[in-house]
Amino acid sequence: MRYISTRGQAPALNFEDVLLAGLATDGGLYVPENLPRFTLEEIASWAGLPYHELAFRVMRPFVAGSIADADFKRILEETYGVFEHAAVAPLRQLNGNEWVLELFHGPTLAFKDFALQLLGRLLDHVLSKRGERVVIMGATSGDTGSAAIEGCKACEHVDIFIMHPHQRVSEVQRRQMTTLLGDNIHNIAIEGNFDDCQEMVKASFADQSFLKGTRLVAVNSINWARIMAQIVYYFHAALQLGGPARSLAFSVPTGNFGDIFAGYLARNMGLPISQLIVATNRNDILHRFMSGNQYVKGDLYPTLSPSMDIMVSSNFERLLFDLHGRNGAAIAALMADFRSGGGFSVEDDRWTEARKLFDSLAVSDEQTCETIAEVYKATGELLDPHTAIGVRAARECRRSLALPMVVLGTAHPVKFPEAVERAAVDQSPALPPHLADLFEREERCTVLANDLQAVQAFVAGHGNRGKPL
Ligand SMILES: *Cc1c(COP(=O)(O)O)cnc(C)c1O
Repeated sequence: MRYISTRGQAPALNFEDVLLAGLATDGGLYVPENLPRFTLEEIASWAGLPYHELAFRVMRPFVAGSIADADFKRILEETYGVFEHAAVAPLRQLNGNEWVLELFHGPTLAFKDFALQLLGRLLDHVLSKRGERVVIMGATSGDTGSAAIEGCKACEHVDIFIMHPHQRVSEVQRRQMTTLLGDNIHNIAIEGNFDDCQEMVKASFADQSFLKGTRLVAVNSINWARIMAQIVYYFHAALQLGGPARSLAFSVPTGNFGDIFAGYLARNMGLPISQLIVATNRNDILHRFMSGNQYVKGDLYPTLSPSMDIMVSSNFERLLFDLHGRNGAAIAALMADFRSGGGFSVEDDRWTEARKLFDSLAVSDEQTCETIAEVYKATGELLDPHTAIGVRAARECRRSLALPMVVLGTAHPVKFPEAVERAAVDQSPALPPHLADLFEREERCTVLANDLQAVQAFVAGHGNRGKPL
């Protein structure tokens, strides 16, 4: 499989190189040159497979030529073997033909484990073959950091540096990062905000000379391997609910358009999906596009669903590329408009094409809490605020009651106690057994000033299993 850039000017890469690449050299994002397509018979024949075997069938074409079948099978079995639930991604019914796909049974209790557990193992496999080491740098306001560290903690060939804003992440989220100990794991608390952290990551990618030749790898959702891993659970859910003989609808809480883009790909690979609902919080750039053809940068509002607090949606470019007939020059022009003027609309027929599949809703904090309370009262299930946004949007935007509606359950409620408290339900979520002693565990973290030179010196001084590069 070869991968091409959404802006048309960067060299095509194979899977191995795409795994190690961040943005393409032309500023675009990598997508498969040709999407694999499965027949309904082929998909139907996968019914009853364990999750890792289904994952092998769905993802095999994407890694073809780079990872041998036997290695890929072993890696997938290990990856999904660490999940706490035997079904890996179980479905829970909330209402008539309405289901939550629980994607929070991985080590850090959020759906990002599906991709980052795999990414860490794939990186280590490829790097050991090449005899190379890499450094990962990432910024997090919560979920991504712990999932990335968990995914890389056993990697022999990766040192990971995750920055979070000092004293500005919740205690559960901080402890999920800082209690993972290893000589290749480096938590840095920056005396600044999340944007400061992200700026330092960007600057480090732009000029990597401080790394003395060691390659820097991205773990945010621009990395193709993350999207790829998320395609699988759409197939998994459909096979549990009568697919592919019948079509399904999905409602997806999203900010960066990563998770829902995976659903769009699943559909283009042959899975019958008749509706995809983009569920956002008050940071609603995607909703403004889907509902009114306006892709315009707004202000950033902190919400009760912080993992979707974004101003621009990085993976949306991948959808725009398809909507424009995969014309890289057109995308480069749109993105230049966006940078200079802060927004754009697409031609009417392209927008209408997108609306055949996508609906959207922006959900306020009040409505989020209302939905948590409503679902708890009706079912006894406690939703996390991101998932609650998905449920709200599913109920308001659903086109057909006859088709199963699946809401992606992106996190465990214990990670976001503030929303649950505000919803005033008479129960508070408990940590699952494997994290029950989280508050007693030793923490390891370095506090650094909001200063690029200091951060880069720290990375260079510790990037080789804690030793200087
Ligand atoms: C990351 C995250 C999201 C948003 O994912 P996208 O990549 O923006 O689709 C939603 N919910 C939770 C809990 C997350 O951690």
